[in-house]
Amino acid sequence: MHVYTAPVVVPIAGDPVRDGAVGVDDDGRIAYVGPAAEAPEADGTTALSGVMTPGLVNAHTHLCYTGYADMYGNEKEFFEWVQEFARRNPQVADEEWKTATQEGIDQSLRAGVTAVADVVTPPVGFEALLASELAGVAYWEACFIDDESWEDRRNSWREIVTETRAINNSDIAVGISPHTLYTLGTGVVKSLVEFARTLDIRLHPHLAETEHEDMFVRNGAGPFAFMNRRMGLRVQLGDGGSGHSPAAQMAKLDLLGGDCHIAHGVHLDADDRRLLREQGTAVALCARSNARLESGEAPVAAHRKEGNPVALGTDSRASSPDLEVAGEWPVLRKLALAQGDDGDGLNEWLVRAATEGGARALGRTDIGAIKVGARADLAVFAVDAEANPYAALVSEAAGNCKATVVAGRLIEH
Ligand SMILES: [Zn+2]
Repeated sequence: MHVYTAPVVVPIAGDPVRDGAVGVDDDGRIAYVGPAAEAPEADGTTALSGVMTPGLVNAHTHLCYTGYADMYGNEKEFFEWVQEFARRNPQVADEEWKTATQEGIDQSLRAGVTAVADVVTPPVGFEALLASELAGVAYWEACFIDDESWEDRRNSWREIVTETRAINNSDIAVGISPHTLYTLGTGVVKSLVEFARTLDIRLHPHLAETEHEDMFVRNGAGPFAFMNRRMGLRVQLGDGGSGHSPAAQMAKLDLLGGDCHIAHGVHLDADDRRLLREQGTAVALCARSNARLESGEAPVAAHRKEGNPVALGTDSRASSPDLEVAGEWPVLRKLALAQGDDGDGLNEWLVRAATEGGARALGRTDIGAIKVGARADLAVFAVDAEANPYAALVSEAAGNCKATVVAGRLIEH
């Protein structure tokens, strides 16, 4: 056993421990958490300074787009921004995708992120991810496909999933990401859901990110209807719409459930939120991405008040300044307070969303908390260890991760 000590350990599975320690077995699992003075005898001890948390979970990202960081600053609005992917992607060579994904993995580890819900666009994007020490789910994405073209693409698309699963021996599961309701034909979505349920693998779509999405799904109108016509994409909803909200439409297509979590959830009313809560579908909030794309502000205070399952994501570098999940904390705190949250327990709620909330969104019970038997994933932040640790983490952790332990292996930054 190797022991890591820190002035404060925030296990999430219990109350913060002053002068705490975490014992890690050779198999990369946690064997002890508690006061350093009571830690069992170890082969070695490493004293880390700062506040130790479970490794953070980035519940929505696209690591393959780490090379698209210029899009964060290009000031294009959503409608133009989203089409840039379709223009740029075919020009990127496999080696560039691999390098970008690896860079995203490295940036994540430096930020104390040890698990991801990663949306994979090029098949080669799986390679670096499944060779990494991260935990989580890699979701093979379907985007800009109508029912007609699905006929030709269905088999090869499915093969990527089955072949990747066959060779995968990482701690990252393979899942499916039906991109959105405005970039996929209704038949394509149904086919993807059926395929995921047959294989018993997880689903992760984007939902309720923009008002324009709402407009398209309800009425078949707005910029996305125009975009699809321009791209020659025949999405049935563009023909008059469904008459109800995007969340209701996803429920109708059987896409929601405990095996699914959604990204963004900005434009969700009380009925939509209840629907997601009843289905056990977690929402990965991506506040900084929403701010960059001027998509609106997610109902953070309402989620907390209603006890909805919530996780945090950065989204990709094309809409986020970095891959720091801790960077979402102060932004979400500000949003919640502005929305009328009384602030009591808010910091702890935010830290839980980035740890156990993320684990739940990914269907994992062995990450997101420091407890015996869990994967030894830890993050140590240089924040004021004397203060309330949750408050210190929320206000100061971003950019201040000093050490990450991933499956028992220490990386100091
Ligand atoms: Zn996304």
